[in-house]
Amino acid sequence: MFVTNEGPILHADLDAFYASVEQRDDPRLRGRPVIVGGGVVLAASYEAKALGVRTAMGGVQARRLCPHAVVVPPRMSVYSAASKAVFEVFRQTTPVVEGVSIDEAFLDVGGLRRIAGRPSEIAVRLRAEVLAQVGLPITVGVARTKFLAKVASGVAKPDGLLVVPPDRELEFLHPLPVERLWGVGKVTSAKLRERGIRTVRQVAQLPEADLVSLLGPGAGRHLHALALGRDPRPVQPGRRRRSVGSQRALGRRRRTMSELDEILVSIVDRLARRLRGASRVCRTVVLRMRFADFTRATRSRTLPESTDHTETLLSAARSLLEVAQSLIYDCGLTLLGLSFANLDDRGAVQLALPLALDDLPDLASRAAAHGTDRPPIDLTSSRPPGRLPAPEPKALDAAMDTVRDRFGSAAVTRAALLHHDAGMEMPMLPD
Ligand SMILES: [Mg+2]
Repeated sequence: MFVTNEGPILHADLDAFYASVEQRDDPRLRGRPVIVGGGVVLAASYEAKALGVRTAMGGVQARRLCPHAVVVPPRMSVYSAASKAVFEVFRQTTPVVEGVSIDEAFLDVGGLRRIAGRPSEIAVRLRAEVLAQVGLPITVGVARTKFLAKVASGVAKPDGLLVVPPDRELEFLHPLPVERLWGVGKVTSAKLRERGIRTVRQVAQLPEADLVSLLGPGAGRHLHALALGRDPRPVQPGRRRRSVGSQRALGRRRRTMSELDEILVSIVDRLARRLRGASRVCRTVVLRMRFADFTRATRSRTLPESTDHTETLLSAARSLLEVAQSLIYDCGLTLLGLSFANLDDRGAVQLALPLALDDLPDLASRAAAHGTDRPPIDLTSSRPPGRLPAPEPKALDAAMDTVRDRFGSAAVTRAALLHHDAGMEMPMLPD
């Protein structure tokens, strides 16, 4: 095939990442089925995948499918170091890198043609560099859009390279099963297959209105566009952050729960604003503590849905502080930190009915009940309970953000914080 033109986007995805790291570091594991994680499969080598083992499968089922597998415990710090090294190779390739996860990224190489060659040549070099510098196999898809590049790498796995030229996109895409379309999970796949729709071509041939009535407006339009090869999203660098965090050193003096709550409120306010500023939403709230004897502990809570609402995030943070209360009394807290983890782009959130502020104490008590049978504390309520009509939380957050953008962070503050100075806040240190 003579390639006249190529898309500028690479999707690079390490193959069976954790398992490949284990095979890299222990030659005895090479060529053998390897399962990382015992209770639940965190990763499986291609030799194990060939026998039906899948990520997130229960360990018992995995060992039944693959009795000769070598099961190894995960070494997260080693994987994290390998990921950093691979992303370093990505950034040596192009400045426009958008991390998707620990082992996967989009690279825009459109501007590099004159200095670095055609995208397919860049992809060949990238694969060779990752192997030479980090010792891991990586698959790369090359296409005009992110979606097609990702589909291409999925098809080319493992240890492969696939280029989808712009004039052959639909020829490549249409014979594929519908499950290759972004966003088609079990539920959507079942709905489509019930109607006899098995391939991307069949999706493309349906009128958009039919897809909308079958799947709803969001998913219907999304799939219609993808099936026709339309995906306008650019590669956005700097999107790799999976969490934002902040922490406050407390010194040796014992703090009351009410003081700790005030600190928590100010951290949540600031982090939630950063989240909204970056158009991200958070699903998991993590409370980090360090004690007088320098031991550390964390408590986390995963929300039913991703959000950027200050009050929702604060309720979760307060419930964690409440859960940790006896630990704090016993061990003497010297540092209080909070991170918002499990971040996603705001556009990816399923539309939910906005929570009324009045629902939130209920959310907090439900969340707290999960970890303790004591009711949650509400030490410093920032509003008079039940007196004012509750404003729509998104509108409140947006109004606060606007005022602070114009007049500075100190312009609007919660009543609970008025008698406090800004305090000493440090950026979150990596674990
Ligand atoms: Mg991968």
